[in-house]
Amino acid sequence: MASATTRDTAVPHGFASTRRPGRDELLAAPVHWRQPARLEAELELTGRAADGAGALGLLSIGDLLEHLPRARREARTVAALTPGEAATVVVEVRTISQRPVRRRGMRALVEATVFDETATMRATFFNQPWLAGRYRPGTRVVLHGKYEGRSSFKVSHHAVTDEAGATGDGGIPHYAATDGLSSTQIFALMGAARPLLAHVSDALPGLMRAGHRLPDRAAALGCVHFAETAGEAEAGRRRLAFEELLMTQLGLLHRRARRRNGDPAVVLADEPSLTARWLAGGLPFELTGDQRAAIETVDAELGQAAPMQRLLMGEVGSGKTVVALFAMLRAAEHGHQAVLMAPTETLAEQHFATIQGLIGGENLALGLLTGSTPAGRRSDILGKLRSGALQIAIGTHALIEPTVGFASLTVAVVDEQHRFGVRQRAALDAKSPAGVVPHVLHMTATPIPRTLALCAHGDLDQTRLRELPRGRQAIETHLAGGERERTRAYERIREELRQGRQAFVVCPLVEPDESPTVVAARAATVEYERLASGEFADFRVVLLHGQLHHRDKQAAMAAFASGEADVLVATSVVEVGIDVPNATVMLIENAERFGISQLHQLRGRVGRGEHASVCLLFGPKGSQRLRALANHTDGFELAEIDLEMRQEGDLIGTRQSGIGEFRVARLPGDEELLEWARAAAAGVIARDPDLRLAEHVPLAEALAAAHPSVHGPGREDLDRPITA
Ligand code: ADP
Ligand code: MG
Repeated sequence: MASATTRDTAVPHGFASTRRPGRDELLAAPVHWRQPARLEAELELTGRAADGAGALGLLSIGDLLEHLPRARREARTVAALTPGEAATVVVEVRTISQRPVRRRGMRALVEATVFDETATMRATFFNQPWLAGRYRPGTRVVLHGKYEGRSSFKVSHHAVTDEAGATGDGGIPHYAATDGLSSTQIFALMGAARPLLAHVSDALPGLMRAGHRLPDRAAALGCVHFAETAGEAEAGRRRLAFEELLMTQLGLLHRRARRRNGDPAVVLADEPSLTARWLAGGLPFELTGDQRAAIETVDAELGQAAPMQRLLMGEVGSGKTVVALFAMLRAAEHGHQAVLMAPTETLAEQHFATIQGLIGGENLALGLLTGSTPAGRRSDILGKLRSGALQIAIGTHALIEPTVGFASLTVAVVDEQHRFGVRQRAALDAKSPAGVVPHVLHMTATPIPRTLALCAHGDLDQTRLRELPRGRQAIETHLAGGERERTRAYERIREELRQGRQAFVVCPLVEPDESPTVVAARAATVEYERLASGEFADFRVVLLHGQLHHRDKQAAMAAFASGEADVLVATSVVEVGIDVPNATVMLIENAERFGISQLHQLRGRVGRGEHASVCLLFGPKGSQRLRALANHTDGFELAEIDLEMRQEGDLIGTRQSGIGEFRVARLPGDEELLEWARAAAAGVIARDPDLRLAEHVPLAEALAAAHPSVHGPGREDLDRPITA
């Protein structure tokens, strides 16, 4: 490493008298975590530019070099400019002069003759008289501005650059910028900082890099900022994306290894008795293949001392409870205890009812414990948990309160695990006897694409239930457009209603949007009036939306649930929580206004009973999203499609699934890199779980310094409260 030398150069223009972070401060600021060497540079920043750098979080040369372009703009040659065009050029100054002007709002005009290998033109700068002294003949500058025709270029952003090579088809990088510091200026600063790339150290072990033919970090940063070709820029980006993904996976797998190598769980490996009997004859249905496979996996893990940490993913109705119950029964038949913890009382009660139905004739002691369990009942349950008389406890976070103790807790099931914080999960672990932790099965009904699940839940082993239980009706989905189809749709609905079935009509709006600039969409209130007195005048129609009085909402829900009402006109409030098995039609107006997962959820409101159901999507037939809905019923598949259809950088769906944004990596595009990173991280952790080997020390340092707000390693530090 080069040693740092302090240079007492003159303070550049604009730095002298203010509190703003000056160049010296900039140089003295902590170097970015990926660069252990202290770097220095000759960055000429004016006051405003220094402010801008501070606002962008660029406090060190390392920060600057890590400030990656958001896009690349084509650099134009002078000869190719067309009048009216906004463009960036890299040119050399031949002559420069300034003259005062006495027009309103203008003090001075600087004119320069500039040229590149194709042509010469006149560049004009307004109100910056000092430029005549700075951009001396022979200076290379990047100019961004507008070509006005007749060899005249009006400059809006400009900077000195050493970058002769930047005019290749690698383009000019475009950076996130602020008022004081333009993208063009940042690019010029990069040029000044370029020699310092030599000091950038690399956290990746050489073998790992060689294995995937990845450039070293300095070369990758060089490519990203100064690429001559688009391919070179992409090669640099991929290397940086790999590192980012690797760090995430290392963090996750490190946490996983720490748990596996920490306190053991109780080995549940005795021959099955209760579970064998239950699986052979106690169940009211036949298991699906996915359920059987999941049970086998869980069984094998319970038989090991390494605590199970498995995520069971399956949509609502996919039959996760049976798998969870198997694990709990395994504990019971070994003379131990199990809990199932749900995020809300309603869910806990539902689980309790489902499980009572599923255990059939088996004689088991079950208990339900929530915040509203009466005091007498509660103390009875607490006593039995402590004595071991209760084998299975189902409930909310009431189960992990300090007063709750268990005789021998060995299996825990956590439903919708993302709704519990790390402290709550630790409290659950602590309920096991001293020196052991429970086997934990986490469950979630959110279908997350595989790539995202690797990032969001990469510390857990994962199992998916994709196959819907037998007897479940597939839902026919149709896209509908014009008036003729609308008429047919209503006729179809009336047919269903005459047979005693019920229908949902969902609109994107509550009230019509009167604004003339907005494309009209149907409103629930209007559709309700129209349908109740028109198309469905012979039936009972009710209205449900979020702005209704609580009492009226309840009344509408009750009327529809009891079958008193035939049609429910609603907004997307029906997305969750309504279970009316007799409803067989889901009609969605302006379906293009809803996202894929929302449409899938809405569709899931029908097809819950014995009758065949239909989903009618009104919207543009060309819509890819609507076509995806019509062609797929599997939520996991739709989640993958949803992810693929998203524009780059649009990470709404990923935020929903609890994943922060990556700085460099793009999913699903970088899926292959993610697989590499996962495998590489697994290899490192398997050989050296605490990153102690010399070759892994830079990785460990990089990992330790990674910003805690980044997803993955730091995310679990947040103790998120339960949100009901
Ligand atoms: P999840 O918790 O995944 O939403 P559940 O476990 O609550 O789903 O199961 C939904 C319903 O399907 C329950 O009534 C359950 O008894 C039933 N069920 C589960 N597995 C099967 C199966 N293999 N065949 C038929 N019905 C099943
Ligand atoms: Mg369930």
